[in-house]
Amino acid sequence: MLILAATPIGNLGDASPRLREAIATASFVACEDTRSFRQLCGALGVETHAKLLSLHDHNERSRLEEIVALADSHDVLLVSDAGIPTISDPGYALVSACSESGVEVSIIPGPSAAISALAISGLPTDRFCFEGFLPRKAGERGAALQALRGEKRTMIFYEAPHRIQQSLEAMLEVLGDRKAAVVRELTKKFEQTARGSLSELVEWAKGEPKGEMVIVVAGAAGSEFDYDELGRRALELATEGLGLKQAASDLAAATGASKSVIYEHALRLKP
Ligand code: SAM
Repeated sequence: MLILAATPIGNLGDASPRLREAIATASFVACEDTRSFRQLCGALGVETHAKLLSLHDHNERSRLEEIVALADSHDVLLVSDAGIPTISDPGYALVSACSESGVEVSIIPGPSAAISALAISGLPTDRFCFEGFLPRKAGERGAALQALRGEKRTMIFYEAPHRIQQSLEAMLEVLGDRKAAVVRELTKKFEQTARGSLSELVEWAKGEPKGEMVIVVAGAAGSEFDYDELGRRALELATEGLGLKQAASDLAAATGASKSVIYEHALRLKP
């Protein structure tokens, strides 16, 4: 059997008794980084006698056959550096190959940053989607966000601290000034949840927040302003003699909406 095991996302107290027992008794552990796994065992005070098999994004495909064959005759534990394996971490190809080969797959559940952040974001939790990391290149990031403009479910993104500002700015530009939350350093000493509109969070991010982060963004219905409508009104005002920038600025002052988002939408709607 292949057994996925969730590991803590910061606070070691979240290591479950089942995780500890599985580590202590495993004969084979497939892990993202063998050094990190040994560090985790040391920090948890759990001794492991397992043979460690490294399984990361760059070797997962080439190790599939070997690990599937092993899991066919032994229990193999799969762990990533933090959280649930396969969630923006290696393991999907292995789970898929095991299930196709008739090898049973089970899980020792536990923390995951995505679900934890969603739960405390204050945004609707009844329907949501997980988008992982946005592409790094600006063009691809913009295209990925464009494809999400009409998404009605709450959206969850992972992001690195040095890209948080630019991602929030891109979200504001493409999705409009919706409600959102940035959840930082979950389960750790400096855990923080910043909630507000995307434009407020862009300002917040200017303080260069550090640590691990999840961005949670309201679905399309959660947008405070109808930017398509505001964009159309800006275009009308512009035909009446105002410059488009001035029209967007006047509408922003009158409604409290974001000037740059009105302007962007007006440009997109321009015939
Ligand atoms: N498999 C993990 C899970 O189940 O959450 C996710 C691994 S992914 C490579 C790492 C990303 O998860 C980080 O860049 C960050 O966006 C998010 N993350 C992980 N731990 C976190 C924490 N303690 N607080 C906030 N975000 C976290």
